[in-house]
Amino acid sequence: MGAIVEKGKEPSVLTSTQDIIHQALGKLGYSDEMFELLKEPIRMLTVRIPVRMDDGTVKVFTGYRAQHNDAVGPTKGGVRFHPEVTEDEVKALSLWMTLKCGIVNVPYGGGKGGIVCDPRNMSFPEIERLSRGYVRAISQLVGPSKDIPAPDVFTNSQIMAWMVDEYSRIREFDSPGFITGKPVALGGSHGRETATATGVTICIEEAAKLKQLDLQQAKVIIQGFGNAGSYLSKILSERGAKIIGISDAYAALYDENGLDIEYLLDKRDSFGTVTTLFTNKITNQELLTKKCDILVPAAIANQITSENADKINASIIVEAANGPTTTEATKILAERGVLIVPDVLASSGGVTVSYFEWVQNNLGYYWSEEEVAEKLRSKVVDAFHQVVETARRHKVDPRLAAYMIGVRKTAEASRFRGWI
Ligand code: NAD
Repeated sequence: MGAIVEKGKEPSVLTSTQDIIHQALGKLGYSDEMFELLKEPIRMLTVRIPVRMDDGTVKVFTGYRAQHNDAVGPTKGGVRFHPEVTEDEVKALSLWMTLKCGIVNVPYGGGKGGIVCDPRNMSFPEIERLSRGYVRAISQLVGPSKDIPAPDVFTNSQIMAWMVDEYSRIREFDSPGFITGKPVALGGSHGRETATATGVTICIEEAAKLKQLDLQQAKVIIQGFGNAGSYLSKILSERGAKIIGISDAYAALYDENGLDIEYLLDKRDSFGTVTTLFTNKITNQELLTKKCDILVPAAIANQITSENADKINASIIVEAANGPTTTEATKILAERGVLIVPDVLASSGGVTVSYFEWVQNNLGYYWSEEEVAEKLRSKVVDAFHQVVETARRHKVDPRLAAYMIGVRKTAEASRFRGWI
């Protein structure tokens, strides 16, 4: 039985992900039993985290950790700090992580975590206490060979450092492989901070070749100016592309002659906010419909929907964020000939270098920046062409092709283990 999508309504990110997984498993010849196993995480933990705030009061936060499937290996995925985190979103994100790990062929299943909070309104000591409290709450279920967290929206290498410190204290041994996205001084990998943006750039280069677009002449719009969006704007502008629009949670900046990216990078804060410093702004929705060659949603889910898909004015969309385009919008854009590089492929650079970080932690032997960059390029280029080839061979859109590649290994591993 497929995921249930109410007629006339945009499905939730979880429902639409389940629906495409159902289609992908069908194309691969798997039964509905396999879908029953893979449509939800095998483990879902909800925790309550009491945190002493700076004013002396105690606030109790809700957190989640989802482990989608561990047939291939330990589960892996980021922890998000955001006021709009929900249980369903965390579940969907863990399913996406399984797909990403399958696409770039790293030996993990998907995992994901989140805490309902707004770190923009918290002090650093409060964020530290929350991060440590989350690790204490989930410590029984996670570990270097069980489930390995990483950064995501509004979390960063400092938060990973507090988390690994807390885990090492609880377990009473130094365990850098418990978490990835750490500072290099704590066993982090070269290239991890920029990995997602580098992976997105590689996909943009390959997509531009397919569409015979010269990147040096290309006009690019990027929604979101956080870890993914800001590094991407820097890398692309250094390659000669013209970044004509960027945005954050509050507004967007647009100039058809190109924005001064160096200046904006210098002015952004650690949460990826920069537009608050300017008066000549437009809205995020206006930015998405401006004419450009390449549109990169790099913020949050559900940004391109059936409401605005027919107004999108780009020939290539590369999804750096998780779930920015709804199923309905994907159909509308495909009919209009827009090439969509799906999230599970485009943003797989982060988990790829997280895997490299974990391998280096396990080996106790560390690679140079060049070695990491070369290994990353090889994995993402390979994944990109496998998706294009699968889409061509099976006559399906790139998203379904990516899901077919992404789910195959976990389905096979589950079958070999005798689970189905
Ligand atoms: P981040 O927290 O560093 O930055 C998020 C950016 O999005 C900020 O500029 C913020 O202002 C903006 N934003 C937040 N809410 C918004 C809204 N409602 N409308 C418009 N903009 C909004 O996060 P990030 O790490 O850059 O992640 C961005 C996206 O990329 C997420 O979907 C994340 O899951 C995905 N992603 C990130 C990584 C990674 O390694 N960082 C890896 C894979 C996927």
